[in-house]
Amino acid sequence: MSICQFCNLKIKLLFYCSLCRNQFCSTNCLIKHITSKHSNKIITGKNYTILNPNDNLTKSSFNTQGYIINMKPYKLTKEEFNSFEILKNKNNENQLGSGAFSKVYLGKHIPTEELYAIKKLSKKELKTKIDSIEIINREIDLHSKLYHKNIIHLVATYENEENIFIILEYSNKGDLYKLIRKKKIIDEKTCFNYFIQIVNSILFLHENNLIHRDIKPENILLNNNNEVNYVILVVVSKVQLVIEQLFVELMNI
Ligand SMILES: [Zn+2]
Ligand SMILES: [Zn+2]
Repeated sequence: MSICQFCNLKIKLLFYCSLCRNQFCSTNCLIKHITSKHSNKIITGKNYTILNPNDNLTKSSFNTQGYIINMKPYKLTKEEFNSFEILKNKNNENQLGSGAFSKVYLGKHIPTEELYAIKKLSKKELKTKIDSIEIINREIDLHSKLYHKNIIHLVATYENEENIFIILEYSNKGDLYKLIRKKKIIDEKTCFNYFIQIVNSILFLHENNLIHRDIKPENILLNNNNEVNYVILVVVSKVQLVIEQLFVELMNI
């Protein structure tokens, strides 16, 4: 059992600092650590609040601070990666979801018993479908620089000969699509709560010249935080990347 290098609590969650490899109990502690110890690495950081919350909602739910930090993703050693195991649900399924090039599993970090979403990308499939794993690596690089309450945190990565694994924060309440299907009607207060958080995170991205490119209920994940659900977006792409691709295409004409 390790101790959080910021608040000195015994580690409940596992968040690595890519710059000094210290470990922290939460994204919050990691951000506080980075802002105090590696402040020269912060590219941008400010509050994003666009609307005044109504009386029923606590103001703190909407005061989200976002940071872009210039650091590479934390690469797990083989030993560190082996301390994660893939879990199965009660239907004996181990997949949380799947995308065009990836499968997402529920994983447990054995020493701390914390849950993570583990995204597995097959290098062989990536090579056949989009020629190069370079784009994925750039997206991983970008995603790991983003620190925002409503954006899922990229905890670490691991790579072997066949696969790339991305360890992500786990959202225990599933996605918004499933919630809409299940509930049919979602009350106005809940909708407002989700809406503000989605808009806050999009504002954070746009103000930093980043775009999401795939906003849909399936990509909006829900979590449980003091009974307030918060919404997490998965960043897909960035403006610069699109421009770069366009530029390459134009150059080839
Ligand atoms: Zn801490
Ligand atoms: Zn550090």
